[in-house]
Amino acid sequence: MSETKTFPAGQGSPAGAPNRQIARRGLMFVISSPSGAGKTTISRTLLDRESNLTLSISATTRPKRPAEVDGHHYLFVEEAAFERMVAEGAFLEHALVFDYRYGTPRAPVEAALAEGRDVLIEIDWQGAEQIVEAGGEDVVSVFVLPPSREELERRLHTRAQDPEEVVRRRMAKANNEMSHWKDYDYVVVNRDIEESVAAVQGILAAERLRRARQTGLADFVVELTRD
Ligand code: 5GP
Repeated sequence: MSETKTFPAGQGSPAGAPNRQIARRGLMFVISSPSGAGKTTISRTLLDRESNLTLSISATTRPKRPAEVDGHHYLFVEEAAFERMVAEGAFLEHALVFDYRYGTPRAPVEAALAEGRDVLIEIDWQGAEQIVEAGGEDVVSVFVLPPSREELERRLHTRAQDPEEVVRRRMAKANNEMSHWKDYDYVVVNRDIEESVAAVQGILAAERLRRARQTGLADFVVELTRD
């Protein structure tokens, strides 16, 4: 994961031309949160606004929910197919989340990074840990927390008639996920979607400017300082 990734030829204009893009490595932008903290809304808005950001579509053995589209929200696969992908090394990371298996397919992420594109990866803490381990400096991780316990409880009551037991189980899962906030580079408390999206965009903008990611800087400065 540490080889240099640059914009493809043609995207950067000739040395010396104004506004040329400086080649840089793509980054893996990992976002985790308990369900109910607003991660999905933040991610969708971010994707709408950031044209150089691609969403990683996870594979899962979880049954498809009615509103979900196969290949868009997830790749819905049988247990045997998932197992085959694991054996083939087709996942960058995979984990058992509650009762089902989830994994990040390796090939699309590597293809995007090779083109100098950034990849948004929405996964749980177990997956984040594995991606950080494998991707090192190419990974930036963000944890999204809800603004308060009361608000989280309110959001976890998806239907007024949810049995108390179901809500209690969702809260226990959320507590478990939230206990991993310390393993992330950045933590955003989602009090307001617009503010949180701005914060996450700020993180992305700053991380893109990291000197080590801008692999084209040396050539750029040679050109700038040419006699
Ligand atoms: P849901 O089934 O509600 O869409 O997602 C359940 C949990 O699985 C969420 O915390 C989500 O972030 C996590 N998840 C989704 N895709 C992946 C993945 O590819 N890998 C891992 N480790 N977790 C994932």
